Amino acid sequence: MHNPPSMTLPDDEQAREALLARCWPDGRKFCPRCRTPHPYTLAEGRLRCAGCRYTFHDFTGRWLNLTGLAPGQWLALTRAFALELGTREIAEAANISYNTALKALTALRLAIAAQGPDAPLLFSPHTGLHHLFASGKLIPAPESPPKTGFPVFGILHRGRRVFVDLIPELTAESILHFNHNFHLRVHRQGNVLVTDRYKTYEALLLCGDESLPFHYLQSHAGECFAQSGGSLFWNFCRERLRRYKGLSWCRFPLYLKELELRFNHQHQDLAPLALSALCSHIPERFMPLST
Ligand SMILES: [Zn+2]
Repeated sequence: MHNPPSMTLPDDEQAREALLARCWPDGRKFCPRCRTPHPYTLAEGRLRCAGCRYTFHDFTGRWLNLTGLAPGQWLALTRAFALELGTREIAEAANISYNTALKALTALRLAIAAQGPDAPLLFSPHTGLHHLFASGKLIPAPESPPKTGFPVFGILHRGRRVFVDLIPELTAESILHFNHNFHLRVHRQGNVLVTDRYKTYEALLLCGDESLPFHYLQSHAGECFAQSGGSLFWNFCRERLRRYKGLSWCRFPLYLKELELRFNHQHQDLAPLALSALCSHIPERFMPLST
């Protein structure tokens, strides 16, 4: 167990400077909507675009703006996240309520998932991630799974790096079909299914809910590669996935992308990466800025 970080919150003014340095790395501000540089400075820290007249502030359109934490709280939260503390401890470290911590962690996980080259696919209708935020705010997760079915992810190793790929052509139904008709071994852990090797992937992963006919799964002789310890990534995440409270199909892609980041940056401080992700703009195609 890690020791909880110091309860002393970072100074808000210094924390704000640290966030601003990540938001505007070269100090040159621009409009988040049309990218016109040199906005006018208005009262109370607001800025106005000379091109499209859009009024914004330093954090407008960025992931950290999805929830209203003070800069010092964001710094404390990302430090605690980097130490892999539980949500309750993270809430204490940032001096916020449990529910606020849950929301802030969702914003952080969305920010992390948005950094990779696979982000356009991850935020497509295949996953439901785009249902978690709109109009600059987080919104409650959808009840029903995407029309395309529960998404399936493939685990791939290249050197020492792991890649967690969304495979849009596969769904939970395909996995059940492969299990039945092609004897693909499938192991169940709660609502999560992990399969034997499939094509170039060392395992396929998905998270369903009670609507999935788990009873339909057949067991086949022999060992599932991942479940028998063959996949370093599955070894890394099987216990961690158990610890996520309320693991749902909708947040599953976020947890997988977080675990991919943790796996690929073991023994490194994740806090700077987390802060940079939070300070990046939400791509317009994921969330258009209001007019
Ligand atoms: Zn503009």
